[in-house]
Amino acid sequence: MTVGATRSGTILLVEDEEDIATLVRTYLEREGFGVMWVARGADALLALEQNEFRLAILDLQLPDADGLDVCRAIRDSSSLPVVIVTARDEEIDRIVGLELGAAAYVTKPFSPRELVARVRAVLRRAEPEETQDAVIAGDIALEHDGRTVSVAGRQIELTGREFDLLAYFLAHLGTVMSRERLLERVWGLSFPGGTRTVDVHVAQLRRKLDRPDLIRTVRGSGYKAAA
Ligand code: CA
Repeated sequence: MTVGATRSGTILLVEDEEDIATLVRTYLEREGFGVMWVARGADALLALEQNEFRLAILDLQLPDADGLDVCRAIRDSSSLPVVIVTARDEEIDRIVGLELGAAAYVTKPFSPRELVARVRAVLRRAEPEETQDAVIAGDIALEHDGRTVSVAGRQIELTGREFDLLAYFLAHLGTVMSRERLLERVWGLSFPGGTRTVDVHVAQLRRKLDRPDLIRTVRGSGYKAAA
């Protein structure tokens, strides 16, 4: 797996009304998107921990949670674009939702076509063309084509896996990632007890890059890269 895998990620649909969920899902799938549907806020947070998504569509009135709290939780842990979909057409929700970082706000009833158009527009904004080959984070430069990494202008020798792991971290700056997720995304593996190899590779990256603050340990959760 490489960082390119994020492109094919699915859309997380958080909606407790089955009719609406089915309709939205059908339209999105027809447009070529993958969709994971959950009906509760708690399930949404769980899904977010275990999967990688391109975007979340979030209903504000959920049976177990206020969608705005779910939005806040998403924003606290990732840069995932959020489209709020709600029957609550209250100015205050709209303002709070957008202040929380929601990328768009769609009021029910809406046409599925309109929603798909909004989703596309948000993705265009959130995912600029990947013409940029180099990733710069502080004084670290990573070049995808040549698979080279330099720190403060000095080239660093990394193994293929170390390079993939660093590329994945740099593509997800600020996001807390569990060892399981890293193992699955970078190694393409998921097996219990296999996460020790993640720790070993992170330790090697820290040593080789000599930038101890780049990849931080988040106690009980995993790792987070910060430029
Ligand atoms: Ca609802």
